Amino acid sequence: MQLEELKGIGKTTIKYLNELGIYDVLDLISYYPFRYEIIENTDLHTLKDGDKIVVGGIVENVPTVVHFNRKLNKMNFHLNTGEFIANVTIFNRAFLKTKINIGNAVTIIGKYDKKHSTITASDIKFGLIEKTLIEPIYHSSFKLNSSKISKIIKLAINKVKPLDYLPDHLISKYHFIDKSSAVKIVHTPQDKPSLKKALTRLKYEELFMYMMKISYLKKSKKQCDGISRNVSYNEIIKIVESLPFKLTDDQLKSVKNIYDDLVSSNRMNRLLQGDVGSGKTIVAFIALYINYLSGYQGALMAPTEILASQHFANFQKLFPNIKVILLTGKLKTKEKKEAKELIKNGKANIIIGTHALISEDVTYNNLGLVITDEQHRFGVAQRGNLKNKGLTPDILYMSATPIPRTYALTLYGDMDISSIRTMPNGRKPVKTYVKSNKEIKDVLYMMLDQIKMHHQIYVIAPLIEESDKIDLEDVYKLEEKMKRAFGKICNVGMMHGKMTNTEKEEIMNEFKQNKIQILISTTVIEVGVDVANATMIVIFDSYRFGLSALHQLRGRVGRNDIDSYCILISDKETKRLEILTKTNDGFKISEEDFKLRGGGDLFGLRQSGDMNFKLADIKQDYDMLLKAKEDSELFLKSPEFQSTKYKYIKEKVISSGHLD
Ligand code: ADP
Ligand code: MG
Repeated sequence: MQLEELKGIGKTTIKYLNELGIYDVLDLISYYPFRYEIIENTDLHTLKDGDKIVVGGIVENVPTVVHFNRKLNKMNFHLNTGEFIANVTIFNRAFLKTKINIGNAVTIIGKYDKKHSTITASDIKFGLIEKTLIEPIYHSSFKLNSSKISKIIKLAINKVKPLDYLPDHLISKYHFIDKSSAVKIVHTPQDKPSLKKALTRLKYEELFMYMMKISYLKKSKKQCDGISRNVSYNEIIKIVESLPFKLTDDQLKSVKNIYDDLVSSNRMNRLLQGDVGSGKTIVAFIALYINYLSGYQGALMAPTEILASQHFANFQKLFPNIKVILLTGKLKTKEKKEAKELIKNGKANIIIGTHALISEDVTYNNLGLVITDEQHRFGVAQRGNLKNKGLTPDILYMSATPIPRTYALTLYGDMDISSIRTMPNGRKPVKTYVKSNKEIKDVLYMMLDQIKMHHQIYVIAPLIEESDKIDLEDVYKLEEKMKRAFGKICNVGMMHGKMTNTEKEEIMNEFKQNKIQILISTTVIEVGVDVANATMIVIFDSYRFGLSALHQLRGRVGRNDIDSYCILISDKETKRLEILTKTNDGFKISEEDFKLRGGGDLFGLRQSGDMNFKLADIKQDYDMLLKAKEDSELFLKSPEFQSTKYKYIKEKVISSGHLD
């Protein structure tokens, strides 16, 4: 069913939905909330200063409104809660003024300041709340906020029936509710137990289909022949010895693993994992070199234009005699045409670029090896795209998210793994401190020291992807604060997730060229970006991140032999964060992360971006994943998998080049 067929939504709204990746009604109803706001009245007797509060009461006076500028306004009124009179402040809701009359009952959601008996409200609801409300919160954009999305989804929810990808025997095995009901409940939850059931149902299906694909790939890999190459290892040793630095033991081991794969007649399907800065790129370059020596073309695919150009420049420097070209979406039409010609006629030996590399109209002459950098940004596999072209090159994935071995075996069950566990010599561990918001002054002084030394700083602002208005205000406020503190002595720039890619790249380039010294950003700073002069990263609200994510962010600094610092600002969960002050080993950290966050609370937790699941979280739902693994392997072997009844499941498993 098309979006146009829904009553009450127009062309503009459809455009905004498209921007969120929603193209038809099925997309719409599978646009699940990423978290829920649980709204229940606060117990006023246990209320402490600074607490979050949800309280109903009677409006005592006519609200007053102050306008600061066209965008910013503030409204105040008094609320009688029955226990005390609170002074309510709410920003940017002046339009509600006429609806808030003396004697009206309203419910305020906000933060309580005891001393001034003030509530700074983030939301206001008309009437009193009798029972717990569960509000779905959706990833939103500037143009469509979460509550608008919720309204649109409600229009659609009874209009289509989503396909059910669980075979009947599993539905009865786990006593799952049917898919349509589950989808309805996650969008319009009434109570926690039924929501939990619905979420479990949908998560399980995601995990099951994921494991079906992994198990299928594993099975089909065994039947797939690769290229056997004739290259002597001595040649490789020669090039390794000519490098400007000495490879670490793990780098060498990885090179050997890859060499063995490439000369053997089995097709390579290998994951190279190691911390940011552990030196995966040079290993990838050597893989490209081995492949080049044996007469094949090699492609290296990076998740962003910046990274692709960075790799391109580095490769040219190290291997000046090999014909390497850059292919990205940004090239002019004429340049692109030339590049494609060189790829087609085989004059280009190595091709480095972005997604453009596997786009339909690129024809390779004799592609032998494909490497994707930061594979989790691509989804787990793209071999489907290449297969469609009749190519079966060897494949190497690189990832900077170390995953403990047990998890890796499940998630990457179809791949071999090489790990780089040690950092190159001369790399100093990043000095890491946990600071509270009260200690912000110390932090500013630490930043000042770095600026005086002409170093650069990343400041990670609270996430704005989380919800819409309030957090974005926080980012702007932070920018203002930083400008006030440092604006006279250096340039402060800002980048956030709601900017376009071009805008982001512009800012990132300015930072790279040291035109900006302090870069405020949400987590959108590109994975793998190498700005050696950046020596400090300050992360606000750091409790909101998993340890591995923080460790990844920390990897933005410490990229040369100068002292580097990571400041984790948080008033909560400081014990967990302390782990980062004690170790720099990404594998250890991810182990801890899995331990700490496994099986956590269902509500209020963000999901990990690792696998691009809509609902499931490999950490929290790991037990479920193991079950899905077992179930998928059995189902794959069963005659049912081949039956016409489940033809659509089989087709989805086989067709999907992307595993995400
Ligand atoms: P990763 O891709 O794993 O995040 P990179 O490959 O970008 O890390 O390596 C980070 C930096 O370390 C690069 O500037 C690279 O040239 C350098 N490097 C890599 N291996 C070594 C080594 N063995 N000794 C010294 N420097 C190295
Ligand atoms: Mg890299």
